[in-house]
Amino acid sequence: MRETLLEELKGRLKGSFLQGVPMSRLTSFRIGGEAELIFRPRDEEDLLEALEILERQGVPWRPLGGGTNLLVADEGVKGVLLDLRRAASFLEVEGSRVRVGAGASLAGLLLACIEGGLSGLEPLAGIPGTVGGAVKGNAGSGGVEIGNSLRAITVLSPRGKEERGAEDLPLSYRQGPLASGEVLWEAVFQLEEGETEEIRAKVEGFLEERKRRQPLGLPSAGCIFKNPPGLYAGKLIEEVGLKGLRRGGAMISELHANFIVNLGGATFGDVMGLIETAKERVLREQGVELELEIEVWA
Ligand SMILES: Cc1cc2nc3c(=O)[nH]c(=O)nc-3n(C[C@H](O)[C@H](O)[C@H](O)COP(=O)(O)OP(=O)(O)OC[C@H]3O[C@@H](n4cnc5c(N)ncnc54)[C@H](O)[C@@H]3O)c2cc1C
Repeated sequence: MRETLLEELKGRLKGSFLQGVPMSRLTSFRIGGEAELIFRPRDEEDLLEALEILERQGVPWRPLGGGTNLLVADEGVKGVLLDLRRAASFLEVEGSRVRVGAGASLAGLLLACIEGGLSGLEPLAGIPGTVGGAVKGNAGSGGVEIGNSLRAITVLSPRGKEERGAEDLPLSYRQGPLASGEVLWEAVFQLEEGETEEIRAKVEGFLEERKRRQPLGLPSAGCIFKNPPGLYAGKLIEEVGLKGLRRGGAMISELHANFIVNLGGATFGDVMGLIETAKERVLREQGVELELEIEVWA
């Protein structure tokens, strides 16, 4: 990164900077080389100013949440990663609505729902990462998607700040309402009033089910592929006999074939190799084209 650019960023912005942090420390897969620069804005204005500078200087940037849906190249990430976990971690319950910052954890949102007796998001319990990442990818589980309860969002981009209501939030399977080049700052959820103890019991049930069905003891990025319409990617991969297939430090999970786990020291290439094998075999033997659910940063 040009020294003059770094100086301008450091001179004009109030937040903090980190240079050269390995993405293997910032992702649940524990894979990936260095992030050239991470910026943690102090507040909304600081982030808007950063976006304006980066756009004007033609520097690539992307938001980074909890890093739980990412596979990052061993060469790392060029440009600037925007980490909102400090600045946008606020959470307010107002009746049956929750206003939450994009940098708050989804687990924190679930906890607030339990404490506030608010129902609707329970099946999402156990999905790691932030509200920003979940809204971006319309995270879902057990037939519920986070977008179902979304009522309004505040989005920042190099063009400024924009608020959008429910009528303006297009959603589809693993596709939230944000366009590329937009950063979610805040989301408002509308939930159903319920009983704290009932909600807690449901959440605990979903967490237990996850522990039984998913290889949570090893680093991964969750499900690798989207489920094709009416089918389960994990079942298709299992049926072509790939459970337990290893490449380097990576393995197609023996517990859930749509998970690739890092057994230790897995590289980007190890995981990509398994992805290619799974895609090829499922296409050849089942006639189904698998599409990635994880995001590849390479
Ligand atoms: C064990 C495990 C289980 C999982 N189970 C599920 C599941 O059941 N269902 C499911 O849907 N997913 C699941 N996932 C995947 C992942 O946890 C979700 O996709 C999660 O919502 C990603 O959030 P994150 O904060 O980690 O996002 P990241 O991985 O950091 O980023 C993902 C994308 O979101 C973007 N992004 C992040 N923050 C913002 C923001 N503020 N504004 C705009 N864009 C932003 C990033 O730029 C990137 O494009 C699982 C993952 C693991 C490891």
